[in-house]
Amino acid sequence: MNSASIVPPARVGVIGLGLMGLPMARNLARAGYRIAAHDLDRGALARARDATGAEVPGSLKVIGESCEAVITMLPDGKAVREVVLGSGGDCLLAGLARESVLIDMSSSSPVSTRELGARLAERGVAMLDAPVSGGVRKAADATLSIMVGGDSGQIARCRPLLEAMGKQIFLTGLLGSGHAMKALNNYVSAAGLAAAAEAVLAGQRFGLEAKNVVDILNASTGMNNSTLNKFHQFILSRAFDSGFSLDLMVKDLKTAVEVAHATGSPAPFAEACLEAWSEAQASLGPGADHTAVVRYWEKLAGTELGKKA
Ligand code: NAD
Repeated sequence: MNSASIVPPARVGVIGLGLMGLPMARNLARAGYRIAAHDLDRGALARARDATGAEVPGSLKVIGESCEAVITMLPDGKAVREVVLGSGGDCLLAGLARESVLIDMSSSSPVSTRELGARLAERGVAMLDAPVSGGVRKAADATLSIMVGGDSGQIARCRPLLEAMGKQIFLTGLLGSGHAMKALNNYVSAAGLAAAAEAVLAGQRFGLEAKNVVDILNASTGMNNSTLNKFHQFILSRAFDSGFSLDLMVKDLKTAVEVAHATGSPAPFAEACLEAWSEAQASLGPGADHTAVVRYWEKLAGTELGKKA
């Protein structure tokens, strides 16, 4: 195995320059890496070129050929499989050299990650799963938490890259374990947001003030990441613009339930949570921010949070 660390000015492919991929690529460029970028969205690519000086060869094969490491930051594992294996001919695998490494930083399904890792290994290409937590703000600050699964030698080789984007880097075990961890984290996060939404709504209908309920939760044992960082900022303000979509959260909940089922673990809360968030998704339509999920509870209750009854 090539054990040399991948350090600047190595050329790194970044596939997926959306809300997360763009700031992550910007931090790689700031650290001195040369970026080769690809995205289906031309606007996203133009922004990446402006922000990072990225090369935009327009071909996944060419990016594979020219990069020792390629990072994917795509909506889900299906999109990752599409860019790696391709259905229309142009794909990363057609170009990736032996001893190069694919780092999937998307929140993908761990089962599909293991299958993809096996396909890459047949060609001598390594794979790590390195999903992130912290959202667009921490992506911009390079303070993401990164949970990395895969071979420890490959992780050591890629550590300088990961450190250019994140603050805390957790080794989770075998390939796929980072993706399992990420889905389980987002289940706990989604459950916390839903529990708080129900509590704030019931409190308000009982006569408490919504903002007071959030402040008291935040000073009490009911506090969680959503009460601290989402209720005042994105929900009671009615901004609903946290930068993480409801569609992606539902995808992560499905993955968490899959992990529970695949391991024979009881998960009645996770199943109920998935059902509620899926109903909210159907009710709100595509493209909503995940914090807008409370609108679904408001609709059921006929009460808007923060408004006098
Ligand atoms: P996004 O929708 O903003 O960006 C995804 C990008 O991928 C888009 O620019 C899209 O055009 C591109 N894309 C989609 N399919 C493609 C394909 N086949 N080939 C090339 N490009 C393609 O999503 P995001 O919010 O940046 O999330 C990316 C990943 O990070 C997701 O897996 C998400 O679950 C995860 N994540 C997001 C956040 C967040 O706060 N937004 C936080 C942690 C993890």
